[in-house]
Amino acid sequence: MSAGPTSYPVIPPGVSDFREAGAEAAAGWQSPEASEVTLVPTHCCYCGVQCGMYLKVDGEGHVFGVEPSAHDINKGKLCPKGVTAYQQVDHPDRLLHPLVRDAGGGELRPASWDEALDRVAAEIRRIQDAYGPDAFGVYSGSSLVTENTYLMGKFARVALKTKHIDYNGRLCMVSAAAANKKAFGIDRAANPWQDMLSTQVVLLAGANVAECFPVMSHYVWGARDRGAKLIVVDPRETPLARTADLHVPLRPGTDAAFFAAVLHAIDRDGRIDEAFIAERTVGWHDVRETIGGWPPSRAAEICGIDAELIERTATIWGTAERAMAFHARGIEHQIQGVENALSIINLVLATGQIGAEGKGYGTITGQGNGQGGREHGQKADQLPGARDIENPEHREFIADYWGIDEAELPHAGVSAVELVHLMETGDVRGFLALCNNPFVSMPNATRIERCYDQLEFHVQIDFFLSETAARADVVLPCTTWAEEGGTTTNAEGRVILRHKAAEPPGEARPDWWIVGQIAERLGAGDRFSFGSIEQIFEELRGASRGGVADYSGITYERLEQTGGLFWPVPGEDHPGTPRLFEERFNFPDGKARFNVVEWREPAEPVDAEYPTRLTTGRTVAHFLSGNQTRRIGALVEQTPRPWIEVHPSLGFAPGDPVRVITRRGEITLPALVTETIREDTVFVPYHWAGAVAANLMTVDALHPVSRIPEYKVCACRIERGSEITPSPPPPNPPGEGVGGAESLTTTDLRQPSAPQGRGTSDA
Ligand code: SF4
Repeated sequence: MSAGPTSYPVIPPGVSDFREAGAEAAAGWQSPEASEVTLVPTHCCYCGVQCGMYLKVDGEGHVFGVEPSAHDINKGKLCPKGVTAYQQVDHPDRLLHPLVRDAGGGELRPASWDEALDRVAAEIRRIQDAYGPDAFGVYSGSSLVTENTYLMGKFARVALKTKHIDYNGRLCMVSAAAANKKAFGIDRAANPWQDMLSTQVVLLAGANVAECFPVMSHYVWGARDRGAKLIVVDPRETPLARTADLHVPLRPGTDAAFFAAVLHAIDRDGRIDEAFIAERTVGWHDVRETIGGWPPSRAAEICGIDAELIERTATIWGTAERAMAFHARGIEHQIQGVENALSIINLVLATGQIGAEGKGYGTITGQGNGQGGREHGQKADQLPGARDIENPEHREFIADYWGIDEAELPHAGVSAVELVHLMETGDVRGFLALCNNPFVSMPNATRIERCYDQLEFHVQIDFFLSETAARADVVLPCTTWAEEGGTTTNAEGRVILRHKAAEPPGEARPDWWIVGQIAERLGAGDRFSFGSIEQIFEELRGASRGGVADYSGITYERLEQTGGLFWPVPGEDHPGTPRLFEERFNFPDGKARFNVVEWREPAEPVDAEYPTRLTTGRTVAHFLSGNQTRRIGALVEQTPRPWIEVHPSLGFAPGDPVRVITRRGEITLPALVTETIREDTVFVPYHWAGAVAANLMTVDALHPVSRIPEYKVCACRIERGSEITPSPPPPNPPGEGVGGAESLTTTDLRQPSAPQGRGTSDA
């Protein structure tokens, strides 16, 4: 079937209630514009909510606007990023031609596709012939559609024959993924978010929903409208925390201690679900012994909170008939991120709050395809269908499917940050990366730049010249999400279909075309001769068949008809699986696993020299490394530069220059003085590059299993600074009234009553 533009009824202007919007759209309501524009149904390019939207395309094929759709996910709502996302498509910064830097240095210059691709292939061959196949690494991304994430895993292992491929979800969702697999045997949210409307308690831990996943907020509001209580566990008083029944402002890095004490109190008060534990779980005895050592008084001291907050959490959760817990990067971006997630899962299992409507657990994926991007083989240790690359049966299945000998299939490589660190030692000398920006997004950024300086060859695929792409030897221009269809899987585990709305500008090409051209030049073209994104999906379906993440029953046509299917979908007559674990968990005995968790200190505890905790995160107007949103005028105007949040007790006035220093770097930022942050903690948002990049200061300690960096806590010192570190000018944002950051004064910073002043503890 065609995935091309489709005529579709628009949502009436001014309709904000999703029920009205849905009814009007279903009745075929047409605006006066409808006959003049094509409305292409698709989904947002940014976060893991994956809101439905219509891109407005004029008669000449240009995307010029957006309307929210009444899709079941967002029901007529979009956030500030979603309503401006379309401005990327015809942005003046779009890369329109391949760029090449001549050997010996110099500036990037335009080149033909043949010259650029020949150079890439020649450098891959040269480096692999001299140093072996693993000397060339691939770094992929979770903003890609699932088809391309599948393709990148296959490309690395079949065309390059390297074990070194990983993806930027390693910086985002892997702690939750590891915890889910340990406890449930499957890495997916347990419930559709619709279940929130029938729960009695929503617990959000380390998840600043209102700013990082804004449209998810309406599910939380819906729950509250129906009488549910809201508990927010976060070091900062985030926007939803202000409306919560209970906000627990614990110290960064103490989550596992908090949840151990909550479970201690629930057990002490006889509120565990003995029947559920006996019938559906294993391992409770050992967990019970461990939490026995965590009375609220002990945890309260470590968490820096009143023990009463632990008791109240235990009472609200422990007395509910139906409760749901969600978490995000706030608890996951730690060297105990997996344990933090497991401590929440222990709470859910011990109280039987899973496997039924209104009872559940979920992690909130950060990137648009954070879920699908971690299922089909671009992770260092994974093959399609969420298969294990070290499992002999899994290796045999995929090798056979790809038509190669199992012995040719590389084994597990290293994680993303470690992959970059291998440049330091010369173990990785060539690098191909797409849709990521490690100069802004990876911890201890100064070291990251040093690593890249050691590379002999670097090719970056992107649609804007990111800070990382600007230092590459070859830059290949790819399409935005509006110019390439395909599937993503949102934070609920719902597979959805994006439609292509426009042709790519200039000589920009789809990712799959670029990768196929390189494979062709490496002599593997016959395995990458796809003619469309849908053909890749058809191959992916087969590769996932029988795996944990089984997509074999999903077709574009079914996605079109249904608006999305929850995996696993093992057959074309299978309806999908919106709610997991109603009957069994994904282990041979069908039972969930409790996991013993022992809280430990962060990698870099505070001391006399560095007595304050630094935590980093997001703000509503920007997305991840800012390569997209720092170019959108309205978003730059809303939040032009980073700041530092400090508690009033520290003695700074609003806008004062505050110097924040860690063992790795320092920045002087304007103070945002607010009572929404703890006295012993400061917060800096991380979307900006260069001298104001928050990751100049973060620590590159990694979780021992998930290998996620500890972005959420390191030791710092703050003092009064003399001059605020200038923020690099925004890269050419379209729109009026937007100056470069140099033209802004500290008084431009909103005070805590404004949304962007609150930042986030999420990534
Ligand atoms: S909530 Fe996420 S998916 Fe929805 S419009 Fe905003 S950024 Fe896009």
